[in-house]
Amino acid sequence: MIFAANLKCNHTRNSFNEYALTLEQELNADENVLVFAPASAFLEGEFKFALGAQNFYPCESGAFTGEIGKAMLDEFGIKNVLIGHSERREILGESEEFLRAKFDFAVKNNWTIVYCVGESLQVFESKETKEFLTKQLSNIDLDYKNLVIAYEPIWAIGTGKSADTKQIAEILEFLATLTHAPLLYGGSVNAKNIAEICNIDSCGGVLVGTASWDASNFLNLISTAKS
Ligand code: PEP
Repeated sequence: MIFAANLKCNHTRNSFNEYALTLEQELNADENVLVFAPASAFLEGEFKFALGAQNFYPCESGAFTGEIGKAMLDEFGIKNVLIGHSERREILGESEEFLRAKFDFAVKNNWTIVYCVGESLQVFESKETKEFLTKQLSNIDLDYKNLVIAYEPIWAIGTGKSADTKQIAEILEFLATLTHAPLLYGGSVNAKNIAEICNIDSCGGVLVGTASWDASNFLNLISTAKS
């Protein structure tokens, strides 16, 4: 099981230091935990969890104001990246074309990619989720060996209203017909629903936002998932 935390625009360098320390003390060494931290809080060193970047610009370095390139990620040994999160698609306006450029750049560098897809409430209510996801996924190479797909219905992100287990199972089963990549679910995962979600046959783990921002909470989720 992969347990991925998306800290979003939360945690300073100081508070992430504490966060990392708590995880380091409590995690088992064999746990597959990935933490997407804000770039300003990246830490150097080896941890029981892998550090990931929430964002990068597909360049080594260059004239891209405000962006972070490979040279900056290399300094922290970061080889895990999040691409396609709905907040970057919707708030930052990242297009399919740009996501493809990020994807190709990450592939060229052999990075592990957690690629997020997910439908809006409108698409969900029109029962067009599968078609929508198929189209989103047609943008990338589903055979890439270091690919993880995160299914995150937009209406379930940060709303406290997770998709129900049956819906998640149906969509993950469908995605499993398109790719052999591990499949994560994300969207209001919490201590009450994590065990049931992780028990879904096609579920390879979770991508957690809000409930991962506190280290003890996140650790509690991980142990609950396995109980
Ligand atoms: C996310 O943004 O990736 C996410 C899953 O958020 P939350 O857990 O808060 O719904």
